[in-house]
Amino acid sequence: MTEATTTVPGRACGTCMMCCKLTSIVELNKPAGKWCQHAVPGKGCAIYDQRPAPCRAFVCGWMEDASLGPEWKPEISKFMVFVAGDGAMTVMVDPGSPAAWKDPRYYPAIKTTATRLLERNMPTMVVVGSKRFVVLPDRNVEVTIPPGHGARVVTTHGPGGDTYDVEVAPLSRP
Ligand code: SF4
Ligand code: SF4
Repeated sequence: MTEATTTVPGRACGTCMMCCKLTSIVELNKPAGKWCQHAVPGKGCAIYDQRPAPCRAFVCGWMEDASLGPEWKPEISKFMVFVAGDGAMTVMVDPGSPAAWKDPRYYPAIKTTATRLLERNMPTMVVVGSKRFVVLPDRNVEVTIPPGHGARVVTTHGPGGDTYDVEVAPLSRP
């Protein structure tokens, strides 16, 4: 996986509507992980011309990263990679296929990217319904993150190599 900020030429959503299920849309009071009331699977958005701003702006990682092949398209993989502006990665998994991200077609790349991002103090989070996992080089840690909190990874350098711990703490305010 590489970091990118523009849509790959020729790449299109087509019949995929996975972000209409996996993301939360405050304007629609729509929770993450449940189909939007306006989604018509296989057909598209029933309010396309009036869809709210977050729907217009959203682009998933597969649309932006040419290194992700066709098997990474969310309607096929059953999860969606999202890369924030600072480069941090979140993997949002279809609750109907909770183990999709562990598929050997994807898991090694997710691990490798998470390890690389960790070198820049960016933890990679996997979201499966109400569950959250922080991806570490040697394991995945399930965490509970209350509102206003965030997870960070503490790396300890030792003679036997690096070890990792996950801390959940209040987000610092400006
Ligand atoms: S998940 Fe990605 S490919 Fe699928 S509809 Fe959303 S933006 Fe398009
Ligand atoms: S309003 Fe339309 S584009 Fe937005 S989540 Fe619902 S179905 Fe998808």
